[in-house]
Amino acid sequence: MEHIAEIISVGTELLLGSTTNTDARDISIMLSEIGINVYYHTVVGDNPGRLKAAVAIAKSRADIIITTGGLGPTCDDLTKQTLAEAFGIRLIFSEEEADRIRSYFERRLSNTHMTENNLQQAYLPEGCTVFHNEWGTAPGCAFVSDGITVMMLPGPPRECISMFRHCAVPYLRSMSDSEIRSHNIRIFGMGESAVEDKLRPMMLRMENPTLAPYAKEGEVMLRVTAKAETGEETDRLMEPAVEEVRKILGDVIYGIDVNSLEETVIGLLLEKDLTISAAESCTGGILAKRLTDIPGASGAFMGGGVTYSNNAKYELADVDPEFLAEYGPYNKETAVMMAEGIKNRLDTDLGIGITGLAGPGSDDTDLIPGTAFVALATPDGTFSRSLQLGNGRERIRTMAANHALDMVRRYLTGLPIEL
Ligand code: ATP
Ligand code: MG
Repeated sequence: MEHIAEIISVGTELLLGSTTNTDARDISIMLSEIGINVYYHTVVGDNPGRLKAAVAIAKSRADIIITTGGLGPTCDDLTKQTLAEAFGIRLIFSEEEADRIRSYFERRLSNTHMTENNLQQAYLPEGCTVFHNEWGTAPGCAFVSDGITVMMLPGPPRECISMFRHCAVPYLRSMSDSEIRSHNIRIFGMGESAVEDKLRPMMLRMENPTLAPYAKEGEVMLRVTAKAETGEETDRLMEPAVEEVRKILGDVIYGIDVNSLEETVIGLLLEKDLTISAAESCTGGILAKRLTDIPGASGAFMGGGVTYSNNAKYELADVDPEFLAEYGPYNKETAVMMAEGIKNRLDTDLGIGITGLAGPGSDDTDLIPGTAFVALATPDGTFSRSLQLGNGRERIRTMAANHALDMVRRYLTGLPIEL
């Protein structure tokens, strides 16, 4: 049976615009991965009357209602009471949940006094499945009433998303008599329209699995999704499709079911027992940040410098000051000197240099914003890319870091590095 879910996000802060509704976004992503359609996102303030009205509408057009927020201990947290009333279900005090909340305060918040209103969170709809909150205090829950599956999740994103992934997804999967699985194919170095153009015949022909492209911060992601009676069967259906995509797109695919380029790069460096450092100018440390986002990065990324000024390029990465005085920092040679300089200084196997003009203004030359140079120093010589990264300061900086990561990935997998 096809399911239709509606997400109702509760919180006045979402309406005021002070908080972005990332919960609905992230839940939608996970729902699509398990093949559940989402037709509407509703946002409603901390107001029981309007929440009740939103629930009535959702009941008429969805068979799964997922709420986020308003499960906490404060008086504006009214989701449970309101949903229980809307479905004619009583709230019952759960001693077990009360104990969990008390012990959470003892273990995790030992210097915070637990006020009595925290125990309000232990009231749960009669007969519900409890989603224990390992990430905070308010438990979530699910119940079925009037043929509708209702799930309530806490608002804070870490709690909401962890609970959705670990509790709600298995619950939803168990409702279905078929398995839905997907693979994410990650691509860098080919635009969305080019990817679509190459894959269009395949996409039109395919029904199960399906193939859908998404653009994502200068990258493209392809999702292959299959539906079958068993997990093994979905895997069997997806395998030839993934193979075919690999054949068509080739080495612009940097990973399957990986989270990011940086994750792939750190994985490769650790596998090959190689170290890396970076001298960053226009990216201002974005590359270092992204590399250190990955747990275990310390085994591969040794550090580097934000060599923003000419003087810093000289002081921290030994870029020739006379060259800089004569030609300025926006050229391939500077990127190469930065990469080699930082590699030397930190005694790493690889070194990266990134320099460029992120804009929006131009410098006093006729260089256009988006002009960037990325170099990778290796034991086999130094490679570089001269790039035009288009518009938008943020995009230019993200793309420059993406190119640096892509060069490392290609070097480590024996692929051509320069464009
Ligand atoms: P708490 O125990 O913290 O009160 P709660 O379940 O009652 O949890 P809310 O009070 O609604 O949740 O929200 C707590 C915080 O979580 C909000 O201040 C907001 O920053 C964040 N938050 C709430 N809803 C969302 C959402 N849909 N997307 C992103 N962040 C959210
Ligand atoms: Mg709250």
